[in-house]
Parts: sequence; C-alpha cells; structure tokens
Amino acid sequence: MAQDKLWQGIGVSAGRACGQVWVLQGDTSKLSAVEATSFSSIDSEQELIRLQQAVGLTEINLTKYEQQVRAEQGEEFARIFTAHKLLLSDPSFVGEAQARIKAKAIPAEQAMQQVATEAITMLKGIADPYFQERAVDVQDVLAQLLQNLAGKDNAELSFPATGLWLVLADELTPAQTISLPKERVLGFIVRTGGKTSHAAILARTYGIPAVVGVKAGWEELANLQWVELDGDEGWVRPGTVGITSAATGNDADSAEAEDTLELTTSQMILAANVGNPNDLPLVHKFKGQGVGLYRTEFLFMGDHLPSENEQVEAYSKVIAACAPYVTVIRTLDIGGDKKAPALQLPVEQNPFLGVRALRLCLQHPEIFRVQLRAIWRAAAVGPTDVMFPMVATLEELLKAKELLGAARMELVNEGYSVGELQVGIMIEIPAAAWNAAKLAKEVDFFSIGTNDLTQYMLAVDRENSALAELYQTYHPAVLGMIARVSAAAIQAGIWVGICGEAGGDSLLVPFFAALGIKELSMAPSSLPKVRRTLARLSFAAHEKQQLVEEILDCATAEEVVTKLKSI
Ligand code: PEP
Ligand code: MG
Repeated sequence: MAQDKLWQGIGVSAGRACGQVWVLQGDTSKLSAVEATSFSSIDSEQELIRLQQAVGLTEINLTKYEQQVRAEQGEEFARIFTAHKLLLSDPSFVGEAQARIKAKAIPAEQAMQQVATEAITMLKGIADPYFQERAVDVQDVLAQLLQNLAGKDNAELSFPATGLWLVLADELTPAQTISLPKERVLGFIVRTGGKTSHAAILARTYGIPAVVGVKAGWEELANLQWVELDGDEGWVRPGTVGITSAATGNDADSAEAEDTLELTTSQMILAANVGNPNDLPLVHKFKGQGVGLYRTEFLFMGDHLPSENEQVEAYSKVIAACAPYVTVIRTLDIGGDKKAPALQLPVEQNPFLGVRALRLCLQHPEIFRVQLRAIWRAAAVGPTDVMFPMVATLEELLKAKELLGAARMELVNEGYSVGELQVGIMIEIPAAAWNAAKLAKEVDFFSIGTNDLTQYMLAVDRENSALAELYQTYHPAVLGMIARVSAAAIQAGIWVGICGEAGGDSLLVPFFAALGIKELSMAPSSLPKVRRTLARLSFAAHEKQQLVEEILDCATAEEVVTKLKSI
C-alpha cells in the first residue's frame, strides 16, 4: 500500500509537514533550448545588446532579493545574492559569453548556456560538496539571465494565489526560494542539493521544514498530490488527502525554551540582531530578550539619506516593540562591503581598512549629528543603549561621546524629550581589544563584533571566499583576544556581550559562559538552539577556569573545535 512507501533524502531544515504538493517548474535547460532554436540569422551586435539588457535586469532583481533578505534575515543571508551579483560581473562568465557571441555569431542564450554549463560541469567535478552545491548558484544566475532574455519575470512563479503548499522541485535556487510567499509554504522537497546549498540555508532561516537530495524514485514521488515530510530524519512519504499541518523545528525548540527561560535569563541575556523594524516578528517568534545589535546602516542604503524624523520613527518602533528589554542601537556602519549610494563616497582601494563606520561619522559630523539626535529622541520610548562601531583609538571614542553629548544638549534646548542611554563600543579592531582596559573606563559596555575581529586579526577579507578556510573565529588568537576583552570589562565593572556571528554559535556557548559574557546577540533563528545549549550547561567556578585555559592552550582552530565538541 502507498502509505508504506518512504523516500529517503537529507533533512536540512527541522520540522514535520504534510499537505498538498505544488511542483515548481523551472528547468532552465529546456527554456534555453527552445529559445536558441527560434533564431535563424544572428546579428551579433543585437545579441550583445540583448545580453546587456538581460544582465541589467538580472542585477536589479538580485539587488531586490539582496535587500529583501537583508531586511528579513540579515547580512549573512543577503550575501548569497551579493555573490550572485559578483558572478554576474565576473569577466569569465558574462564577459566570456560576449566574446563567444562576437566570435561565433551565436544567440545570447546559447552563449550564456555554453559558458554556464562549462562552469557547472567544472564545479560538479570537484569532490568537495561545497563546490558541487555552488553549481546551483551558477544555474540560478543563468536561469535569471535566460528568463530576462526571454522577457519573463522570475518573480512570477505560478505559485497558487491561496492555500498552504508543499513545494516539490527538481532543483531550488535561492532566487526561487526568496520569490515564494514563505508564509504559505509548508515545506520543501528537492531532488538535488545538500545541507550547505543556499536554498537549504534559506529554508532553515525561515524555519520551513525541508528535505533535499531525494533521488531514488523521484518520478513516482513527483506524481503524488499529498505528501508528508520529516526535515529532521530526512524522509518523505505519501500524505493523507485533506490533512494539512506543519510543525517547525523552531516550534519544538520554543516549547522547550519556555521551561528554561527563567534559568537562561539569570545566566545570560539572549538577544537578537536586526537590520530594521521588519525583523521584529522574528525577534518575538524566537523569544529574543531584546535587540543586542540594531544595524542602522540599512536605513541609509536607499536612494536618499533618512531624515531625523524618519530615523526616530524606525528606531522607536524597534525600541517600543522590545521594551522592557533593551535595544542596542549601533550607529552607522557604512563602508567596507556596505554602500550608501546617497552619500556618494569616493571609491577606496581597501574599503575594509578605509573610511568605514565611526571613522566616516567623525569625518561627516553633519550626518552623525542627525543620527545621534534621532537616537536620543527614540530612547524616550523605552530602554535603549547606543554603541559605536569600528573604534580603534581612545580619541575616536572621546570625540564620539562629545558629539553624543552635544546632540543631547541641542535637543534639550529645543524642548524635545530625550531618553536615557547607556553608551558602549563594539570591540572589533585588535588595537581596541588590546587596549580594552583603557577604553572600559569610558563606557558602560563592550559588544564584541567577532565578524570583524576575526577579519582583522587574521588579515582575511571576510568577503573573500577563496580565503574562507582561513577565516577562523575558532582560532585560539581570536578567542584569546575575546578572553582579554572580557577580563578587562569585568575588571572595570562593565558588562560585555558578543554580537558577531559567533554569538549564535552554540558550540561556543560554554566558552562564552565560562568567560562571564553577559549577553549573546544573534540572528533570531539561532536563538532556540543557543537557548537549549545554555539551559543544559552547568559548571562550577573552577571548571570554568579550566575550560578557558584548555581552549586558550590549543594551537589551532581545529583543536579548539575538537575540544568544544567534547564538552
Ligand atoms: C561584527 O563585525 O561582528 C558585527 C557584528 O558587525 P558587522 O557584521 O555588521 O560588521
Ligand atoms: Mg563589524
């Protein structure tokens, strides 16, 4: 009987779901073949123009996806689309297709298809699954280019207008994932892909159960109308007609977290990182104890600079929604990989080492002043802290504090009500970390930005995938620096938190707890797992000391990981 059937795949996003199936049709190879045969005589010039236009449209779409994911899920996930944009501008991709159009007078579709197929074959031939799965990224960009060449819009997937559906796809690209109305997607079942495919990452982020790599018996499965899946165990089986349900892994986590909330509150604050007020439902869904990092720069990335009132409105929304928990507002961190076109900043040779974050604000006090005023005004709504990013020297901190004080004075004189603010800095530059004891005298708290601290300590561009293996937050030197900062903060009687990606890494929770870190702030969807890890943790004072010593005694990141896994 059909109910006995079970297809095994890889569970990549926790939870169970059952419901009616919607099959995503998106075979790009068929699309290109049809288009390619419809050309009889080829005008190379015309083809080059068509390709250029398609590239332009694709770039616009990718920027849209990038911004949407950034707003909903944060920078880490937006990078999927940033990488797609980079591929689009890679000379060996579109540039090579252009060269073939010129040399062989072939249609743009055919040229793009040839170049992409070669890249996909090359990537799939590499034994490392990471590279094999990057082939889907090439496929994704190719699909969008072909759709735009054909005058079709990728966003217009024919997803049903109503109801809840299980999405079944031969292949699921990040662009397709992002185009679907996630609130009506019960789950994903995908024939290809693995744990690190971007669609899997996105499914986890959105808390949608997913099973990928369901190869055997795919044809039979694809003909079913009702299906059930388990994203933990990685299986799919026929569902009962008429039964629709979904229980995400995160729901289960939240239930467990409920019992332990008291305990965790007394140990550590588990807060969320947000990019704008749209993230608030996720903070609540995953029970964030306030916001430990509000990346305000996303407000500045549009086509105009936000006015003081616009800023007050955005900040107040977050502060009011998080009260009585605290919202930590980080002042503008533009520069590096974050561009603000409205600022028309000069191009720099080394943007990550350039006029970024607080450096930019101190060079443009007129912009900084407006933001500081807005933060004071918004702080009247509820508990608020402010912190400055990319502090390298004591002088920068003192200048920033002076401007903060001046902004307050202005507002009071103008009759505005202002709130109370605790003032902190991000520790993300090694010089500041080393000098933490001195800086601690001037602030109420430190928040360690492990993303940049890792980048600057190891001299590894955090965006450069060719150096991904060297980007090691587990490096004993990085963890040693965190220990130094934490000790300096405790000595000075101020609190210290972690707000980089490491804050959401459950493997590091025992180390951070042993150091006396008071707050971990992370992507909202990481909260349940970290909360569970923390709840299970208990050690005596001498054990904490021993753990820290053992970790810092390691010679390599690999040794650190082995040690952490043994706890
Ligand atoms: C960090 O550097 O760790 C951090 C939290 O800031 P961002 O990732 O925004 O640079
Ligand atoms: Mg940073």
